[in-house]
Amino acid sequence: MIIHLKQSIDSNRAAEIAKQLKAIIFKKDGQHVLITGYALKSIPDDVINEVADSWVFENDIQLASNKYISDKREVSIGNTTIGGNTKNTILIGGPCSVESEEQIRSSAELLKELGLGTLRGGCYKPRTSPYSFQGLGLEGLQLLAKMREEYGLNIITEVRDATHVHDVIEHSDVIQIGAKAMYDQGILRACAKTQKPVLIKRGFGTTLKEFVQAAEFVLSGGNPNVLLCERGLRTFETATRFTLDLCGVAWLQEHVNLPIILDPSHAMGYAYGVPALSRACVAMGIDGLLIEAHPNPSLAKSDASQQLDHNGFRNLLNDITPVAQSVGYKIV
Ligand code: PEP
Ligand code: MN
Repeated sequence: MIIHLKQSIDSNRAAEIAKQLKAIIFKKDGQHVLITGYALKSIPDDVINEVADSWVFENDIQLASNKYISDKREVSIGNTTIGGNTKNTILIGGPCSVESEEQIRSSAELLKELGLGTLRGGCYKPRTSPYSFQGLGLEGLQLLAKMREEYGLNIITEVRDATHVHDVIEHSDVIQIGAKAMYDQGILRACAKTQKPVLIKRGFGTTLKEFVQAAEFVLSGGNPNVLLCERGLRTFETATRFTLDLCGVAWLQEHVNLPIILDPSHAMGYAYGVPALSRACVAMGIDGLLIEAHPNPSLAKSDASQQLDHNGFRNLLNDITPVAQSVGYKIV
């Protein structure tokens, strides 16, 4: 249950009520918000006069539920706002990994040329093998920060584990939590303590409920700026890297109040499929698209087969612009 206490309730009394109801508590717009497990269906008599409003749920999708907030939440990434009534689809571009200053500068220049504002590159890569390139770490974060400074871009980069979560929070404008890291509660709880947007990728074996519950860790810790990213599930099919769950996206659009970003690059695993999938994603009326692009994909140190070259990225933007318009959205 979500409970909004009356504005007149002070912090000491709010903490007492939270303890009594075994609730998580945070403050929003000067008001105390309590969240209990969904099993609680009614407010105890001794508290009822202190409650301004309450919502009952069938499961622990609560703060993210559109039964709590019926409109999609608005999230700002620098000067760009998505969600709410904006009908903006943010196109997030950049390489899988930050590899060198020359490479990431080339990506930054591409985005600037196209009038886009959000650069993504990984510095702590969650690789499947310990022998593959693991990312530049702090040096990569500093390169991204330099690009932000020089080109006025917003920076998205991922956290692999809790050891460097604070470095990533400090250096980025949007924190990405990867498909493998999305169950890591050290990361989720640390991201709850900032107000920076957090993009959570769905694990490839994660149910929609588990996915949204990961978001609940961040929301209930007091950070309302959460983005959900579908990036493909593991199915019986091996011809493509993963299977993009567009049915899941439709479900999220119906039930959840968080902006939705789609990542066809990781789902497909091969650059040839990314433009067509991107058109399909944008046609659903989504809040963002995450596309991997590299100045020279064949030399990429991670995810080489799926990254578009820069011409491919330019063409993709041309392709999706009219598709977005046809569903009332604008690429930003
Ligand atoms: C990535 O975004 O480069 C990445 C590693 O993605 P995922 O966590 O979805 O596998
Ligand atoms: Mn990648």
